[in-house]
Amino acid sequence: MYCIVASDVRKINKMTDKRTLVWFRNDLRIHDHQPLMEAMKKSECIVPVFCIDPRWQETTSLGTLKVGFHRYQFLLESLSDLKHTLKKIGGDLLIKTGKPEAIIPQLCLDYGVQSVYAFKEVASEEVKIGDQLESNLWKHKIPLNLYLGNTLYNKEDLPFPIKDIPDVFSNFRKRTERDSFVREVVESPKKIRIPNNLEKTIVPKICELGFNEKNSKTRSSFFAGGESAGLKRMHEYFWEKDLLKDYKNTRNGLLGDDYSSKFSPWLSFGCLSPRKVYWEIKKYEKERIENDSTYWLVFELLWRDYFRFMFKKYGNALFREDGIKKVKRTNISANENELFKKWKEGKTGIPFIDANMLELKNTGFMSNRGRQNVASFLINDLHVTWTKGAAWFEENLIDYNPASNWGNWAYLAGVGNDPKEERYFNVIKQAYDYDAKGDYVKHWFPELKNLPKQYIHQPWIMKDAEQEAYDVILGENYPAPIVKLKSLSY
Ligand SMILES: Cc1cc2nc3c(=O)[nH]c(=O)nc-3n(C[C@H](O)[C@H](O)[C@H](O)COP(=O)(O)OP(=O)(O)OC[C@H]3O[C@@H](n4cnc5c(N)ncnc54)[C@H](O)[C@@H]3O)c2cc1C
Repeated sequence: MYCIVASDVRKINKMTDKRTLVWFRNDLRIHDHQPLMEAMKKSECIVPVFCIDPRWQETTSLGTLKVGFHRYQFLLESLSDLKHTLKKIGGDLLIKTGKPEAIIPQLCLDYGVQSVYAFKEVASEEVKIGDQLESNLWKHKIPLNLYLGNTLYNKEDLPFPIKDIPDVFSNFRKRTERDSFVREVVESPKKIRIPNNLEKTIVPKICELGFNEKNSKTRSSFFAGGESAGLKRMHEYFWEKDLLKDYKNTRNGLLGDDYSSKFSPWLSFGCLSPRKVYWEIKKYEKERIENDSTYWLVFELLWRDYFRFMFKKYGNALFREDGIKKVKRTNISANENELFKKWKEGKTGIPFIDANMLELKNTGFMSNRGRQNVASFLINDLHVTWTKGAAWFEENLIDYNPASNWGNWAYLAGVGNDPKEERYFNVIKQAYDYDAKGDYVKHWFPELKNLPKQYIHQPWIMKDAEQEAYDVILGENYPAPIVKLKSLSY
């Protein structure tokens, strides 16, 4: 006679439960998470997984890191937050180090998982990993269900198939705004069930990833990673500080937390969903005010969508030096490596450029105005290959995502999808237009604090006696310019 004990019943139940695995990637949230909700509809029990991919620690062919300190730190904070949020609703997050295409099939076998759910990525390396995972899972007859998301507009709702998306942004925008719609936010799960025997894992420390922990002490707490911090920032920007109504006038600022939304790191890691932001804007328009500024934030989110869809349309071409248009630049400087090094280190002798590059290195962030100027300067004034600059941004930007970064760089280099040849920014004029008194430059270079307006953005026009009077000796306590730019009179 057989006697079934309670532990056997639990074991049997465990194996008969329908189980799915949710693979978190750049979607570190539970709100508006279609794969998570679909997985929950189809199964009683979820295995939530994140893989820290060792390939992120590799050096690129351009000599830069794939992920630098600031972005790793943001990632680790986002993982802690997601783990905490999942625990609050009865779940947890299994954090593994290794290649997802190898780890996930093994986890499926270990936990008796029948299908895997995740968001689909658009950049080639991530697409390749998804494809490899799919074929590894196929060997065990486990389907991989991928959802294209993390955009404002769903691919299926666009007025054109991906292959016919207009290459010119304004054409894409006008038709999409006229003929499409933004779907509602997918509801957040209230309760989640995970296997009782789910392995307990912890979020690694930054030093375990080869970075110096000391850096994290100097890091600003403004960009704290995670869904909770992302939602808090959105609430603060829209409702507490009531800043959205002035966004269009302030968005070109350079200094401080609030000149623009600063949502980008949370959007790039998927801690915030663009649809969540969109519907919050609609609520703000109903309850506070609807104006050019409220529209403009949606307009910027459309740029984000546009680059993601362009990546889907053109794939790898956006990473290539000659881009989509196959334009070969012929005027590259013979000493481009030396010039690139000075640009990276913020030692070009052009204060506006150097201040932006220092901000990037120290915080992992740079304003949109700054990004346009330093990119144009590298491409058009220093004549350095644009892909080097894009790779440096990839290493350092806290909000890096392949589509927005490489798409914007290719666009500025004139090898993207837009018909215009190239976009030149006169950086001295821009410096005076957007940092009239030099407050931004002085913030990053206090040694320039005595310089009057006419010299702050072009210290090389000072005579020797003036340099002494203002305590700025070019080549000694601030670099002499590495390129000759036209001076302006102010
Ligand atoms: C050379 C270059 C590289 C860039 N690399 C990135 C990148 O890797 N990741 C990234 O998120 N943005 C990138 N941008 C776009 C833009 O600079 C940042 O999104 C913006 O500065 C982030 O600040 P914010 O969130 O306050 O933006 P806001 O002005 O408040 O805009 C709201 C959101 O709209 C989106 N957005 C705004 N402008 C753009 C744009 N030009 N392209 C795509 N999306 C946009 C962002 O998601 C942003 O968070 C790049 C721009 C340039 C010129």
